[in-house]
Amino acid sequence: MIDTIFSANIKSITLNIDIQMKCPKAPYGNTKVIESRLVASGTAIRRRRQCIDAGHRFTTYERVERPSIVVVKKNGQRQIFDRMKITEGIQRACDKTTVTVEQVEDLVALVEEKIYATGKAEVNADFVGELVMEQLAQLNDVAYVRFASVYRSFKDISSFERELSRLKKRLYDD
Ligand SMILES: [Zn+2]
Repeated sequence: MIDTIFSANIKSITLNIDIQMKCPKAPYGNTKVIESRLVASGTAIRRRRQCIDAGHRFTTYERVERPSIVVVKKNGQRQIFDRMKITEGIQRACDKTTVTVEQVEDLVALVEEKIYATGKAEVNADFVGELVMEQLAQLNDVAYVRFASVYRSFKDISSFERELSRLKKRLYDD
């Protein structure tokens, strides 16, 4: 039922759209939406678009605009929370695994939601890293260990083994 309403809405949005995004490869080219999908637990819409003349395809995202969050590093340096940067880090950890782009998007959205749910304007970088690792551990072991190894910058085999046993404990405890 909800699905039907949703797809009906999307269809009418697609048909009634009067402002067209221009093609990034040929800036005067008109484009059309060929697919719209809810991602990131419904907090974003991902659209595949195609330019009418040359057929170039590209993707756009529509998201709720939220206030910036500041991430505080161990050394006290502050940085604006950057979704793209986190996404790239996770994407690298997921390289050559079966994790899909949409799973990564959902993961980042979940992490973002948890950050906003704290209600704070500043969060520690450690907190963000832990949130990502927590989610990755449930998604893919290889990606988790890779991300953890970069994030925790393992200095030796023993610190890597500690992380691995933490992962195993997590997997077998629940
Ligand atoms: Zn084009």
